[in-house]
Formats: sequence, structure tokens, C-alpha cells
Amino acid sequence: MQHFPIFLDLTGRAVLVVGEGEVAARKAAPLLAAGAAVRMRGGFDSADLDGCVLAVGADAPLDVLMALSAAAQLRGIPVNIVDKPELCSFITPAIVDRAPMTIAVSSGGVAPVLSRLIRARIEAAVPPAFGRLAALAERFKSQIRSALPDLAQRRRVLESLFTGPAADLVFAGHEADAAILFESALTGHSPSGGIVFLVGAGPGAADLMTLRAQRLLGEADVIVHDRLIGDAVLDLARRDARRIYVGKVRAHHCVVQEDINGLLISLAKEGQKVVRLKGGDPFVFGRGGEEAEALHEAGIPFEVVPGVTAALACAAQARIPLTHRAATRSVTFVTGHTKEGRLDIDFAPLVALNGTIAVYMGIVSLPQLRDGLFSHGMARSTPAMLIENGGSNKQRELRGTLDVLVAEAPNWTNKGPTLVMVGAAVGRGIAWAEISSSATLPPQAQV
Ligand code: SAH
Repeated sequence: MQHFPIFLDLTGRAVLVVGEGEVAARKAAPLLAAGAAVRMRGGFDSADLDGCVLAVGADAPLDVLMALSAAAQLRGIPVNIVDKPELCSFITPAIVDRAPMTIAVSSGGVAPVLSRLIRARIEAAVPPAFGRLAALAERFKSQIRSALPDLAQRRRVLESLFTGPAADLVFAGHEADAAILFESALTGHSPSGGIVFLVGAGPGAADLMTLRAQRLLGEADVIVHDRLIGDAVLDLARRDARRIYVGKVRAHHCVVQEDINGLLISLAKEGQKVVRLKGGDPFVFGRGGEEAEALHEAGIPFEVVPGVTAALACAAQARIPLTHRAATRSVTFVTGHTKEGRLDIDFAPLVALNGTIAVYMGIVSLPQLRDGLFSHGMARSTPAMLIENGGSNKQRELRGTLDVLVAEAPNWTNKGPTLVMVGAAVGRGIAWAEISSSATLPPQAQV
């Protein structure tokens, strides 16, 4: 071990910071946050060290920093001079702050960039609310000690609280519910421990998932997923997690919705941590609402984790501003699903909004969509677009008007998930071809 890590209690203790620039201020900030009485000085006078427990130097001439280092070391006061390892008697780690938890990472001064990379990974893996879990445990400290006098038993109960649904509830901002689980664990009336997360996986690219979704995938006992979920996303799951495919192909439902609801309920009742993974967002045409209702009725704790819905992913990758101050002030998500061959869309208000329309499951009913919109007054020249496999490296686009799309879609489609987008903003989409051609124009011709 290159350096010995410790955590100093600086509350009310004097710390000298020498230097006047931005770096010195940045060094002073965490010292202040730790409660130190920081003395900031532009120059160095040895008397400034009187009563100090720590000294830091940055943004000052080298002779000043050398004097500070020598004087501090002579008096046995730990000293750190920024970017001058030869003048330091201690180094500062990269910090992940989850107060009251603090995680400190050091490469022994060898590769600070590596420390920062490790810190970034820890930042992603440890939920921001982790500290609140410690605070909750603190609240129950004396109760826990008296209810569970046996140390081994206490450790077991705390571990299950810190890794189970109580922790998940804290991370999702439901501290009151988590407190109920703490209480029932102490009285021995522990519920089964099962919980269901309705998680949005986004459009398919693993790095378009939220950090919360990624963490839950890594922790789940069982993952119940459908067709839109690709391998890149499933690879993030725990290796030994059970995977259950309940995919639905249009007009050919593999598992009916009631069975999926029943499956989620029975898995949770077995005490499993279940992630119900859905493409895009679970509450956008994903029947997440029905699953949430069924779980609620069955008394199963559940949480919903949002995801990047297809319309947002498609628009971003096709460079279509869903709203644009000069063109559109609204965006509407509708379904192209038909009931007895008819679209269930209220066309008059949709056309009147004059905004961007994103149609999910709309490619099959494209002719009805076109006829409905045009017969309610939409201009035939309104820009429209089909986007297949949006948000992935297989994204394909077909641009034109609804008339063009209706004519060309049957030959164009590869049968991947496809979104229909209509509206003036679609015409503002900046295609890659336009960007590369504008780069060859003389500067004055560029907009
Ligand atoms: N919950 C999902 C939508 C499920 S409905 C979400 O929020 O995105 C399924 C429909 O969503 C598909 O028929 C298609 O219209 C659309 N869709 C889903 N993923 C897509 C993708 N990657 N590219 C284009 N459309 C997509």
C-alpha cells in the first residue's frame, strides 16, 4: 500500500490554505464542507500555521509553496501542495460524497486520471440516495440494538434491509414506506421481501438506459422481458438472474397480459426481486399501467423507472426537434393500433394542435392515418417520416409526406419497430447529408 487512508474529523479545526486562484478555492470548498475553520492566505507567514492541523497550497509562487511545505513538515503538520508530489506529506483522494458515507479513491499519486475513472464508476453504481439509507438506519439505531441484541442476527437483518426492498424504496424517494419495512423487520413480521420494478429499457442501446435501470438489472433475481429488449441491455443483468421472455408479436400474443400480471405477482410473492423490463418507457403504450394496477390490487410493492421512449430516441437520432419555437409548440404521442379495423384517434383536435405527432405501432394503419389527418384539414404537404429501429445503430429513415410514405412503406420496411412522425418540425430535421454538403459551401453561404 502506497499511502495509508484515514478520515479526519476537521470540525472546528484550523486548516491553512495558501493561494489566491481558482484551484485554491476548489481545495478549500470540501474542507469547509467538512466543517474546518479554513484560513485562506495569499502569501505565507509561518505564524499562519499556529494551531493548524492541516495545510494546503495552490496557485502561489513556487518559493512560497516550498516555504509552506518545509515549515509545515518541520512542525509535523500534514501538508499538500497541489500538483507537487515532492512537496506533499499527504495526498487527497477522488471523493464520492454520499453523506454520511464517503468513498475515497487514490492511485497513490501515480495516475490520478485512473482514480477519477474509478470514482465515475462508483458514482454510477452507488445511488445518490445511498446516504439517506445510512440516515434511516441511524434513526432506528437504538431500536435495532434493543430488538436485536445478538450481533450476528443484527448483521443479518441489517444486510437484508440494506440490499432489499427497503433500500430500493429509499433510492426511489419513498422513505416513509422504507421506514415501515424497517419497523416490521424489527418486530419480526417481515413481509416476503418480494418487489417488482417496472423498468424502461429505452430504445435498445444499453447506454440510453438510466443509471437506476442499469443498477436494478444488476441486482434483480428475475427479469421478465419482452421482444423489444436486445442483448446489449440484457447483458447488464446479473449472470445468475433468471430470464423469462413474455414477448408479444403483433396480432400473435405469446403470453396474454393477464398471465404476465399473474406471473409478476407470484414471483414477488415468492420473495423475488423482479425487474419487468419494457422497451422505451413502461408507461408509454407499454401496458405498464395495467401491470401497476394488478400489482397494487395484489398488495405487491412496486416501483416504476422511466425510460427513453421511442419518440424521443428516434427524434434525437434523426435530429428532429420535437418542438421548435418557430414551427411547433406541442408533441402528441398516439397509437396506430386499430379496433375492428378503425383507428382510435380523435383527428379534429389532433390536427388543430398543429404540432408534432408521433404514432406508435402506426405503420400497418398508415393509409387510415393519412386519410384521417387530411380529411380533418391537415395540409397534404406536411412533412412526415418513418423511423425504424430508432435510437440504435440500425436506425433507418424514410422522409417525405404521408402520401409518399403510404406508397413506399411496404417496399421500404424491414419489419423492425417503426415510428411514424408527422408535422412541420419533421421538416426541420437536419439530415446527415445536409450537414456534410453544407460543410463544402463557402462560409457566407452557410446559415
Ligand atoms: N413503451 C414503448 C412503446 C411500446 S409500443 C416506448 O416507450 O417506446 C411498440 C411501438 O413502439 C412499436 O410498434 C413502434 O411504433 C414503437 N417503437 C418502439 N421502439 C422503437 C424503436 N426503437 N424505433 C422506432 N419505433 C419504436
